[in-house]
Amino acid sequence: MGVDLAAVCVFCGSNRGASPQYEQAAADVGQMLAREGIRLVYGGASTGLMGVVAGAALATGGVVTGVMPRGLAAEEPPHDGISDLRLVGSMHERKALMAELSGAFLALPGGLGTLEEVFEAVSWTQLRLQDKPTGFLNVNGFFGPTMEQLDRMVADGFVRQEHRDGIYFDDEPARLLQRLAAFEPSHAHKWIDRDLSSS
Ligand code: AMP
Repeated sequence: MGVDLAAVCVFCGSNRGASPQYEQAAADVGQMLAREGIRLVYGGASTGLMGVVAGAALATGGVVTGVMPRGLAAEEPPHDGISDLRLVGSMHERKALMAELSGAFLALPGGLGTLEEVFEAVSWTQLRLQDKPTGFLNVNGFFGPTMEQLDRMVADGFVRQEHRDGIYFDDEPARLLQRLAAFEPSHAHKWIDRDLSSS
């Protein structure tokens, strides 16, 4: 079947981060998606890296869908240039709609919201609630500790190696996109202990 990359969901910080490399990476990703004719689906905000990725996609002629909880709009004002703003009732509805509209997920550096959203996407794929890949853009080594945590989960028997291998980390946006496109879902179930007890 392959991965449908008509639309990619980007999770990233509502702050800009301490290094200019983060903004540059967000701009590169926005431009890349627009150039590739891929719709950007994101949280809809104008603040931080979220605003940068959307602004860059729009400036490059891209199509952008923002998904914003009504109650959040005062604190994270919506980006006024976006082609398609969807207002939803809650954070849960936001994530569900972003996932429904997208064929793959891309995480850029961010904070707690970014981490929460991206790991929900990864765990839904592990459970085969969806067959959609996730890639982390490893700007400035930002996701090194995340990789280490995942490897520790594998080493300590909480995550299968093949599920870990289907979560991509790369410092080059175009290569990361190619890896997302080539994703094949794992058919293994997540419960490692059940295999042990049945043998
Ligand atoms: P942050 O990485 O904390 O700057 O947040 C990035 C985006 O994630 C912001 O738009 C937050 O409002 C959003 N966010 C934070 N927590 C959640 C959540 N539980 N579900 C959906 N979005 C969230």
